Amino acid sequence: MIKTISYLGLGTMGSGMASNLLKAGYKLTVWNRSAEKCEPFARKGARVADTPADAVRDTELVMYSLSNEQAVEEVVFGPRGILSGINEGQIAVDMSTVVPATSLREQEAYAKGGVDFLDAPVFGSKNESVDAKLWIMAAGKKAVFEKVKPVLEHLGQTIHYFGKNGNAAAMKLVGNLIVALELEALAEGLILAQKAGLDLRTVMEVVKVADFRSPLLVSNGQNILKRDFSTSFALELMLKDAGLIEKFAATLQSPIPALRVAEKNLASAVAFGFGKENASAIIRALEKEARVEVKGR
Ligand code: NAP
Repeated sequence: MIKTISYLGLGTMGSGMASNLLKAGYKLTVWNRSAEKCEPFARKGARVADTPADAVRDTELVMYSLSNEQAVEEVVFGPRGILSGINEGQIAVDMSTVVPATSLREQEAYAKGGVDFLDAPVFGSKNESVDAKLWIMAAGKKAVFEKVKPVLEHLGQTIHYFGKNGNAAAMKLVGNLIVALELEALAEGLILAQKAGLDLRTVMEVVKVADFRSPLLVSNGQNILKRDFSTSFALELMLKDAGLIEKFAATLQSPIPALRVAEKNLASAVAFGFGKENASAIIRALEKEARVEVKGR
């Protein structure tokens, strides 16, 4: 049974997960590029490491949730990175959203040192991370998955096993393709409703119950009506994921025409300065074009 864990990357997602590991009683070591994010964990008894290599030297399981491919490159493969400190017999779990090719590259690099690896990205956002209600996907050797599963159960409400390495990363991109299109659809729909003079609160009441309803549409729609774009999933991360989906779909010649439209609007929202806001701020790019502002009365 795993008792000691390193968690690297204490951002929106990682901080919630690391807190839940502490609550569950694991002996935790943490590392974050900006050291101040480690302080609340130190106060609760976690060991704070100076480098990724130092963070992974004495635990059974190493988990990380990092922004993007470049962060994984630096934290895993870089000087004083995880690979320079991890030892045979340890297990590494990447919970970041990356392309499957990156997961496979990680797996190969770890395997050279006798380290097992799972790609285990998540659905859900800040609240689900804090409340241990994430929807987790994992891929890698089945025996390794079975060993790590009891730990993942402290973080999520569902855990799906996807077989060989890279498959969980692929599923994450499939899901985020759908998320991007839902946000684009919500933005276009709300602007059309506003221009048509509909009462937007009643519009959202219908979105809540009709056969196209989804929790994502409801929570983002309600926040848009309140003009609340506080971040749980940053728009710039959604744009990053759109790029990953594009890259991945290209390797399989899978068509993504609608994603390209959403990607263009995400990029224009970033250009308007909304990159750090929630991904639902995609509507702010379309509002500029439509010369309206969607608001609940
Ligand atoms: P975040 O709040 O921006 O945190 C990103 C983390 O990565 C921080 O710890 C950050 O360190 C670190 N980082 C970034 N660049 C780095 C670098 N070059 N070297 C070392 N560390 C670096 O992001 P998040 O929302 O937690 O997302 C983490 C991952 O989960 C991403 O892949 C994202 O796509 C995915 N995800 C996010 C959500 C969501 O709703 N937020 C949902 C599902 C999946 P600093 O603190 O020093 O900046």
